[in-house]
Amino acid sequence: MPANGTSEILKSKRSSWNVQISEFARSTRNLIREVVEGVKLEPNPEKPMIPLSIGDPTTFGNLKAAKETIEAVRKSIENRKHDGYGPAVGSEEARRAVAKYSFHQGHVSPNDVILCSGCSTSLDMAICALADRGQNILIPRPGFSLYQTLAVSYGVEVRWYNLLPERQWEIDLEQLESLIDEDTAAVIVNNPNNPCGSVYTREHLKKILDLAEKYYLPIIADEIYEHFTFPGTQHTALSTLSENVPILSCGGLTKRFLVPGWRMGWIIVHDRNNVFAEVRKGLAKLATRSLGPNTIIQASLPVILEKTPQSFFKSTTNFIYRNAVLAYDLLKDVRGIKPIMPNGAMYMMVGIDTDNFPEYPTEMLFVQDLVREQSVFCLPGTCFFYPNYFRIVLTVPEDLLREACIRIADFCENHYKLDKRVIENGGLQAVDLQ
Ligand SMILES: *Cc1c(COP(=O)(O)O)cnc(C)c1O
Repeated sequence: MPANGTSEILKSKRSSWNVQISEFARSTRNLIREVVEGVKLEPNPEKPMIPLSIGDPTTFGNLKAAKETIEAVRKSIENRKHDGYGPAVGSEEARRAVAKYSFHQGHVSPNDVILCSGCSTSLDMAICALADRGQNILIPRPGFSLYQTLAVSYGVEVRWYNLLPERQWEIDLEQLESLIDEDTAAVIVNNPNNPCGSVYTREHLKKILDLAEKYYLPIIADEIYEHFTFPGTQHTALSTLSENVPILSCGGLTKRFLVPGWRMGWIIVHDRNNVFAEVRKGLAKLATRSLGPNTIIQASLPVILEKTPQSFFKSTTNFIYRNAVLAYDLLKDVRGIKPIMPNGAMYMMVGIDTDNFPEYPTEMLFVQDLVREQSVFCLPGTCFFYPNYFRIVLTVPEDLLREACIRIADFCENHYKLDKRVIENGGLQAVDLQ
């Protein structure tokens, strides 16, 4: 017998374990996973597999965190002062350390910093704080797929603005402007960019800010690759150029300090005219959902950010730069594909002239056969909403990268066919298209 009326109602409604997942969970999509699941990965047993797909620089063991970074964490574990909870937005000391480290972004005070569990959580909180169900945010194409994953579960529509490969992946500002309407809550700008490795000039950043100012649009700046630029290229923090546009800059330890698993990121609030007063409160409330990020890493931040030597960062970016040059040189004259030289981050996009590969109507099939014949796996551009390209990761050891590029070149040579239009127009004969 039910003890009271409520459980009687429950009982009468439920007669079996029919547990549904939430709308939130159901609508959460991870494009990279979906696309990779759709590719048949059957490597050639005669060739060892070379994955140029994994965006984790620690995968191959050639890029490791600095000993100063490791030592800082060892100390904060051993002194037993950081086993408890901290404030949800992060400890004062850790936020002060991030503020100091971020002087290149302009004036930053500890109160402008919110610590998060990785830059992904920073982005999640920034989107969640600014955009409501039914609103839209503008995101780059090609671009990091997480923006869509995060926004769509909140019922926030995503609209893609185009990056232009022929202009070093600058934003097509006219097309971006055409997407803005009264429901646009924010623009996400990723600079330096994943997957393109582009780094914007000050002039271009100013134009982006002008547009944001014209429409009173806040910017979420994904600057996780700040400082991660090749020799001769300078990264400019968006905040240093902004007079009136409020910016949430998302960053963290992950890429530059080579510790993706440590999950330490942050949001820096840039808001000269105090238009983000409510947003600050909102972010502080959102931080309470997780009770704050890992206290051991927080406690280590002052030492990590101050003591990790410049030579460590230099050696990482020099290594990636040399790999970028190597891959570019090996691929630039290969018929049917077109690598685009990056200026920073850890990736290079390579265009496929699909007219020259009639066997592969989509880059997904191209990538799949590249695995089957050459055991080289690159992420298809579709993972970044950008078909007819593939992305290679530049963090792999040099000899592996060289071998992979030689195999990619062989693959292209073996499958390259003269463009049908060339044959028709030029009257070339004896070219077998099939
Ligand atoms: C890796 C990456 C992130 C996520 O960083 P985490 O700190 O690991 O969460 C965010 N944005 C871009 C563009 C990235 O490539």
